[in-house]
Amino acid sequence: MTSTRSIGKFEYKKPGSLRTTLRILSNKGADARILAGGTDLIPQIKQGQISPSLVLDVKNVPELNRLDWNEDRGLRIGAAVPLSKLLTFVAISERYSILAQACSVIGSMQIRNRGTIGGNICNAAPSADSAPALLCLGARAIVASKNGNRKINLDDFFMAPGKTSIGADELLVEIEVPTPPAHSAGCYMRHTTREEMDIAVAGVASFLTIAPRSKKLKEVRIALGAVAPTPLRVHGAEALLIGKSVTERIIEEVAEEAAEEAKPISDIRASAEYRRELVKVLTRRTLWKSCEMLGIEIQR
Ligand SMILES: Cc1cc2nc3c(=O)[nH]c(=O)nc-3n(C[C@H](O)[C@H](O)[C@H](O)COP(=O)(O)OP(=O)(O)OC[C@H]3O[C@@H](n4cnc5c(N)ncnc54)[C@H](O)[C@@H]3O)c2cc1C
Repeated sequence: MTSTRSIGKFEYKKPGSLRTTLRILSNKGADARILAGGTDLIPQIKQGQISPSLVLDVKNVPELNRLDWNEDRGLRIGAAVPLSKLLTFVAISERYSILAQACSVIGSMQIRNRGTIGGNICNAAPSADSAPALLCLGARAIVASKNGNRKINLDDFFMAPGKTSIGADELLVEIEVPTPPAHSAGCYMRHTTREEMDIAVAGVASFLTIAPRSKKLKEVRIALGAVAPTPLRVHGAEALLIGKSVTERIIEEVAEEAAEEAKPISDIRASAEYRRELVKVLTRRTLWKSCEMLGIEIQR
């Protein structure tokens, strides 16, 4: 028999402007929770993990529903844009395939129709699938409060499970993603126990930029999900590749180092040892795939 739990009373507001939303947050921030798609928030309320006195629905705030791209400014994704809309935005499928790939595995069609990328990162689950891809792309969060706006590099955004560097009186307005440099490519892969509708046991995103003539690596970004308290870049592993030509041996060393830098825990989904092994495998695979996308032949 399914047990039911009564939900504590809360006030629900759905303001139509950013100004009103920020005013409410400045007065009530500590008691309020922001609702975008609600696919994380509603289950948390139902399960009694949180009991806000105010739920502030931001789906009607115009600034949070923008989605645009231009070469100079890059991509701007409003925090309330549903994931499914990102997947049909041509600039994303053509220029940010690593992000499209990460968003396409989140939940199901129904979840992606409601859920947002803003909610995915603000929920700050270590397993959030969009986070490793956004870290690789050098994304920035634009947050606003009554006192103005500030930019947070995604590297400084995740603080702990369920905790970001956004203050109680602040709101994520949009995510800025620079246009990827020429001669760059990357991909995201994750391991789940079930094929669909499952949370990552481990996820890895790799993103490479090469010097076109020498084919040596100019810039390397590798980010992990679900294997530490927060999504994280593995700087030591990245450094092993910079300025190098890609060989099978270096890829193995990088995969080993990425696994060393992971800080996994054992839980119901997998043991820490298994997660470390997955990091090794997924790092190797994402690097091979990224090289293939760039037309680099990996030396033996
Ligand atoms: C069946 C199911 C399957 C799922 N599968 C996956 C999966 O495969 N991969 C994955 O990563 N996730 C998965 N999720 C989790 C969830 O769907 C995603 O994290 C989704 O992107 C959350 O977006 P949302 O708009 O629904 O967020 P919400 O639930 O609306 O919000 C999430 C959190 O972010 C805060 N927040 C939202 N917007 C803002 C804002 N603009 N400013 C400040 N704070 C804000 C909220 O207060 C809340 O704490 C799944 C969930 C379900 C129910």
